Amino acid sequence: MVEKKSNKTVGVLALQGDFDKHLSHLYSVGVNGKLVRNKSELSAVDGLIIPGGESTAMTKLIKAFSLEEPLAEFVKTKPVMGTCAGLILLSNQIDTDRVIGFGAINIELKRNGFGRQLDSFSADISLEFTNGNPFHALFIRAPRILKSGEDVISLATYEGETVMARNSNVLVTTFHPELTDSLAVHKYFINQLLLSKEKLN
Ligand code: GLN
Repeated sequence: MVEKKSNKTVGVLALQGDFDKHLSHLYSVGVNGKLVRNKSELSAVDGLIIPGGESTAMTKLIKAFSLEEPLAEFVKTKPVMGTCAGLILLSNQIDTDRVIGFGAINIELKRNGFGRQLDSFSADISLEFTNGNPFHALFIRAPRILKSGEDVISLATYEGETVMARNSNVLVTTFHPELTDSLAVHKYFINQLLLSKEKLN
C-alpha cells in the first residue's frame, strides 16, 4: 500500500480472463481500478489493463460487446498494459486471424509459443527498472515474442528472449504479473505510463 493516491482511474477489461487479480493489484498500488465491459465504462477511465485469458474468446466478446472500435481508438494514445492474452490483442502480427491484433505495439509473436513441454512454468527474471531484483514470473500458455520494432524497448528477458516490453503508451508482458505478490510491474505501469508528474512510492 502507498499513502498517496492518484485520482486517475485504471480500467481492467473484464470480458473474460484474469481481471479480478489485476483490480486487487491496482488497489494495493493505490490507484482506483474499475472493471470495463462497455463503451461508456471505457470512456470513463484514464488507462486500461487487458488481462490474460484466452485471446480468441476475448476477440469474440469484444466484437459481441461492440468494443472493437472504441478499444482500437483507446489503445492508440492512452496508457495500456496487456498481459499474456492482452499482449496478443495489442500486438500487430499474430499467427492466426481468429484474434484481433490492435497493432498498438510493434511486436510479432507466436501464440502458445513455448509449446506443450513448457506450456506453463515459472522463472525468476530480472526487470530492467528494479536494479536487477529478481521477479518471480508465471508463464501460462504464454505467447513468445519473435520480433519487435525499433520503437519497442525490452524491459525483461527470459533465456535471452524479451518477455516484457513497452513503447510510448503501451506496456506488455508475456507472463502474469497479477498472479505474484510483487507490485513492481503494476507500479511501473502507473508511474511511467499513467502518471506524468505525480508518482506513487
Ligand atoms: N494462450 C492464450 C491465448 O492465446 C493466452 C494465455 C494466457 O493469457 N495465459 O490467448
